[in-house]
Amino acid sequence: MVQLVPSQDEVMEMLKKTGAFREGHFVYPSGKHTPNYFQMPLAFRYYDTARVLAVALSRLLRVEPDVSSVLPKVAIISPGPGGIPVAFGVREALSAEQIYWAEREEGKRMFRQYINKGEVNPCIIVDDIIRSGDAILETVELVRELGARVIGCGTIVRFRDSIDKINGDIPIKSLVEFDSKFYEDGEECVECKKDAPTEHVRF
Ligand SMILES: [Zn+2]
Repeated sequence: MVQLVPSQDEVMEMLKKTGAFREGHFVYPSGKHTPNYFQMPLAFRYYDTARVLAVALSRLLRVEPDVSSVLPKVAIISPGPGGIPVAFGVREALSAEQIYWAEREEGKRMFRQYINKGEVNPCIIVDDIIRSGDAILETVELVRELGARVIGCGTIVRFRDSIDKINGDIPIKSLVEFDSKFYEDGEECVECKKDAPTEHVRF
C-alpha cells in the first residue's frame, strides 16, 4: 500500500475520530478558556493511527538534506512523555539508530536516560503537539549541553502562534498547523456568553 503524506484535513479527521481533538468549552488550570482541546495520547492508543501519523511525519523530515545525509546515524529525541510514541514511530520509519526522551523534574527538563557527552548522534526533536514551543527550546538547549547538534524538528500538531523554527533556520515540520483560540478569562469567552457547559482540563 502506498502511503502518501495525509492532508491536514485527513489528519484532523483522525484526531477527531480517536477523541484526540475535541470541540466544546474548556477551561485550563491557568484560567484561560478555549473552544478546542487536544489530548494527543488518545490518538496514539490506536496503533494503526499512531503508525500512519509517525510515518507521515518521518516523510516530511526525510526530505531535508541535513537529515537524509546522515541517516541512520541519528538520534530521535522527545522533549517529554507525550512525544514518546511519535519518537518511536519516527525512529522506526527512518531506521534511526538512537532514541532518547526527556522529562520535567523539579521544574527542570532533563533526560531520563544516563547519557554521556559525545555519544549522542545528530538529533531530530519530535513531539505530539507544540503549543508554545517552550518544551522544544528547552530540549534544544539540553542537546547543545551534550555537545550534539539538532538537524531537524517535527510535530503532529503545531499551534500557529508558537515557534516555527529552531536554531534560526531549522524549520519545524508538522502535519497540522492549528489556529488555537484562547480567551484570557470567562469575561472574554464567547462560549461562556452562550452558557455552554464547561469542562476543566489539566493542561
Ligand atoms: Zn468560557
